[in-house]
Amino acid sequence: MLFSEIFGYDILKNRLIRSVHENRVSHSQLLFGPEGTPKLAIALAYAQYVNCLSRTENDSCGVCASCVKYNHLAHPDLHFIYPVATTKEVDSKPKSKDFIAPWRELVLETGADFSLTDWYEKIGMAESKQAIINAEDAGEVVRTLALKAYEADYKVLILWMVEKMNLSSANRLLKVLEEPPEKTLFLLITEDPDQILSTILSRTQLVKIPAMNEATIAMQLQNRFGLSSSEAGRLALLSEGNWLTAIRIARSGGQEGASASDFIEWLRDIFRLGTSKFWAEANLAILQRAAIFSRLGRENQKSFLVMAMRMVRYVMLQRLGASGMVKLEGAEAKFTVDFSPFVHSGNASLYYDLLQESHNNIERNANAQLLFIDLSYQLERVMRIPAPAQ
Ligand SMILES: [Zn+2]
Repeated sequence: MLFSEIFGYDILKNRLIRSVHENRVSHSQLLFGPEGTPKLAIALAYAQYVNCLSRTENDSCGVCASCVKYNHLAHPDLHFIYPVATTKEVDSKPKSKDFIAPWRELVLETGADFSLTDWYEKIGMAESKQAIINAEDAGEVVRTLALKAYEADYKVLILWMVEKMNLSSANRLLKVLEEPPEKTLFLLITEDPDQILSTILSRTQLVKIPAMNEATIAMQLQNRFGLSSSEAGRLALLSEGNWLTAIRIARSGGQEGASASDFIEWLRDIFRLGTSKFWAEANLAILQRAAIFSRLGRENQKSFLVMAMRMVRYVMLQRLGASGMVKLEGAEAKFTVDFSPFVHSGNASLYYDLLQESHNNIERNANAQLLFIDLSYQLERVMRIPAPAQ
């Protein structure tokens, strides 16, 4: 991966490049940022640059012996750890090296732009499984790192999604970070630094990879998918700063798996649960809808919930009289007015929490059908909370 293949992030790239020139590469760094930021791409470009045999002022050469191996992720001094679980192919004691073939394939075919869910799908992990970074896996790589480098200046370990380490693997990593082998670069990647042991955090240099702004996403959508600037702008808005969501929506022809009108209909059913006249009908509708949602696939379910959070925010803005900030039209705009009695300071954060928690649970492979049924009844409870007296 070359730095020039990564769109934007110039200040950060320059800082990393300078650290190589000035010979002050910190041996362990934690790249953190939300889903859809090019953390892995930046780590790969950085590692390649550190080891390039004829690097230029601003980038790797791309053609030296080291770069050629890096281009295929096949350098003997480049190691990876990522979350794994048992699958059909690997039915016991899964380790990262058992999955190196699909890993290389996914990184290369996506330009290192993929989510944890994409990874689970790639290795054919069952929805009921939990992927982790286990202690045996971490231990084996750590032992390899203690050996001398085969040919590179720097041995590199890229540890993707550090938050998936269990306690014993985190302790192994900690030990090696405390007494790092010479000329070894640890690049840790996470979407959630809050879940990482403070002892690990304190031994790494933190590198923040901020979410992309809408303008950057729109520009990339124009470049990559040839979209008009207005269409790219519309999709960028829907993506909420997540480049992966933007790509997914662009590939699906600009349509989300479930639309705002599905959300509005769903809330209407939920509201009817509280009426004696429509109660039975509404229950049936909730079950049917949950079955439909469960067939959308995890990525679509996640973006549906993100969209739901956005709609709740718009309703709240509407209620606060900030209708100019509600970027909706037609039936959706009308919804924010109609629904505004039901979103207020007494329950707005509860809607968010429920939707966010469901989003997280989908990522953790929860049973989507049960999740949406449960979420429906919980939302009904939140909807009934009376607005605090003015
Ligand atoms: Zn090179």
